[in-house]
Amino acid sequence: MSAALAPKTARPRKPAAPLVDQPAARAENGDAKLQAAAKRERAEADRERLFDSFNSRHLWSRISWPVLIWITAMHVGAVAAFFFVTWEAIAVAVALHWLTLSIGICLGYHRFLSHKSMKLRTPAEFFVLLCGVLSGEGSPLTWAATHRLHHHRSDQPGDPHSPHTDHDDGWWAHLYWLFLDRSPRDQELLYEKYVPELKDRPMLRFFEKTYGLWMVLPGVALYAVGGMPMLLWGLCARMTYAYHSTWFVNSATHLWGYRNYETRDESKNLWWVAVVSYGEGWHNNHHAHPSNARAGHKWYELDPTFWVIKALKATGIAYDVKDKIPAPAQP
Ligand SMILES: [Zn+2]
Ligand SMILES: [Zn+2]
Repeated sequence: MSAALAPKTARPRKPAAPLVDQPAARAENGDAKLQAAAKRERAEADRERLFDSFNSRHLWSRISWPVLIWITAMHVGAVAAFFFVTWEAIAVAVALHWLTLSIGICLGYHRFLSHKSMKLRTPAEFFVLLCGVLSGEGSPLTWAATHRLHHHRSDQPGDPHSPHTDHDDGWWAHLYWLFLDRSPRDQELLYEKYVPELKDRPMLRFFEKTYGLWMVLPGVALYAVGGMPMLLWGLCARMTYAYHSTWFVNSATHLWGYRNYETRDESKNLWWVAVVSYGEGWHNNHHAHPSNARAGHKWYELDPTFWVIKALKATGIAYDVKDKIPAPAQP
């Protein structure tokens, strides 16, 4: 006989909970509260630890030597490049600068990955993220997580590269913050808190594992194609100029410029940073509307990275593009 056909009177009634269980239930409830409080305490401690891992006071005790040596080598190479000038090498450097900075960092790492301001077909996603990797600005996950932390804590303690707060130093925001090493645990906390939905994606894990290889391969290929001029211009000079263009967005646009929007941070729009960073210098617009694929909101705020996004949208390679200009910024 199925349960549905069984006479209702045959089903034994569940006995009421005896009164002696009430203290046990209260104790259980108390335990749950204690556990929840302990969990909150751990989360708060993790949060403080993560913010503190970007504090400038740790710089001299926690220097990341690989980063320091790499960035120094690129700068030395960029100066040496002036003794190995060929037009071919300079042309390759300019093309790679645009490809790695505008397509890789501004479009790929920043607007696509960190802020989800558009969706991309998978081959295009791989290509733009690879361009970002070739810029030498860190893996996609590290870049996106650090950038989201910057938006979360803009110009407050915990902001990785603010020229304000406890650092109070434009050079810290521009460059020094990069030399601060983080423990594997701090790196894990950064990923858990800021890129939880991205950290296990196979494409991003692939770039995480192979990042070092992508730092070596372009140098070998450039040297094989065009010797020292191509290596120095195509790798060192190109990377050095792209580094400073990106770093000016961290430092200069939180110090100088004008504001279209009232935001809770010190972000500004600065034309010359927009010129060297393919449109990223309209930083106050960006802080006010981070998920907008457009950085320039007024007709004179030129945004070359958005021109590429428009072309990708027209061809269907990019879709669901968030590009509506917010009303108050119209001239
Ligand atoms: Zn900012
Ligand atoms: Zn951003």
